[in-house]
Amino acid sequence: MLNFDNLGLCESILLSIKAKGYTIPTPIQIQAIPHLMEGRDLLGIAQTGTGKTAAFALPLIDRLIKNRVKVRPARMRALILTPTRELAAQILANINIYGKNAKLTNTVMFGGVGERPQIMAMSRGVDILVATPGRLLDLMEQGHVRFEQLEVFILDEADRMLDMGFITDVKRVIQQLPARRQTLLFSATMPQDIASLASTILHKPVRVEVTPQSTTVEKVEQKVAMVEKGNRLMLLRNIVRQNSDGSVLVFTRTKHGADRVVKHLEREKVVAMAIHGNKSQTARERALHSFRSGKIKVLVATDIAARGIDVPGVGFVINYDLPEDPESYVHRIGRTARAGRGGIAISFCDNSELHLLRAVERLIKRKVPVDVTLKHQ
Ligand code: AMP
Repeated sequence: MLNFDNLGLCESILLSIKAKGYTIPTPIQIQAIPHLMEGRDLLGIAQTGTGKTAAFALPLIDRLIKNRVKVRPARMRALILTPTRELAAQILANINIYGKNAKLTNTVMFGGVGERPQIMAMSRGVDILVATPGRLLDLMEQGHVRFEQLEVFILDEADRMLDMGFITDVKRVIQQLPARRQTLLFSATMPQDIASLASTILHKPVRVEVTPQSTTVEKVEQKVAMVEKGNRLMLLRNIVRQNSDGSVLVFTRTKHGADRVVKHLEREKVVAMAIHGNKSQTARERALHSFRSGKIKVLVATDIAARGIDVPGVGFVINYDLPEDPESYVHRIGRTARAGRGGIAISFCDNSELHLLRAVERLIKRKVPVDVTLKHQ
């Protein structure tokens, strides 16, 4: 069995990943790391949950420490662009863990918080900058960010960038990057716009595709509860009460819906918090922290806010509404059954949403059974 020792990573990285508890590289890590260590470009078709962060971060850290360079003010040696603040913070946290012994300077940059500390952090130059596109562009235009020393550019979740309307910003950033660089592009899906972006920014890339969908989907026990919208709050309350020892992640289609669910649960004496785009960064982080630490049992999220949420031990995922986009279903239920554990996903559905359920079933190539015991009364 292949382990991390065979990948050519330096000792200090091996020590930190061992301390983190990784023993066997995931498929994307096995496939990507050797090529990245050789400096190749990479097209990675993979979503969160596959171990893609370590797949790009480990060889990156290795490269930066094997050849140390003094970074000038406002410059960075590596730029990672990612669509959401949560993902950016999570990637930086992982990099700091993997690079614990590496003595690199890394920082993160995203909107919704003050610019000052981010400008200060850049003023000395950094090894790795993890950023969302909007704030990066702002600070770039103000002259606080410069790319002359950039060696590695990583575009994460490219399809989400497109969905969220960030792709023009991303292209504006790319125009400023030095042509000589190593480029990695990760995307869960490959819509035409992303495929053509990939073909313009990648040079003879290695293509790595991992499909966690089926494996993740297989580990999750999936059910449908046929329940009208007006009865969903009661059913949710019942499910939460009956499973008082596990954490429950609830997905709603809208921000307003998420807030309504939280209010209702609170009236029922169930402590819950919401995480969505209208919440401040601090509120989102507080909610995530409380959920991770087990202080709150229920987190209610919209799809975009939940991208990349990495919470071990989510026992239940509840689709309070079925998503319009069937791939979101796979992302949602992938929040449970992480790291080899099983999990349960319950989707609320009524007759008006049956077409959404069918779309999901076509995508995952299996029927999701209706559980008639799930009742709101
Ligand atoms: P990612 O796809 O990068 O969001 O990673 C998903 C989860 O897998 C994170 O919780 C990582 O800490 C974890 N992970 C990544 N690589 C490994 C590995 N080789 N062994 C065990 N867990 C891993």
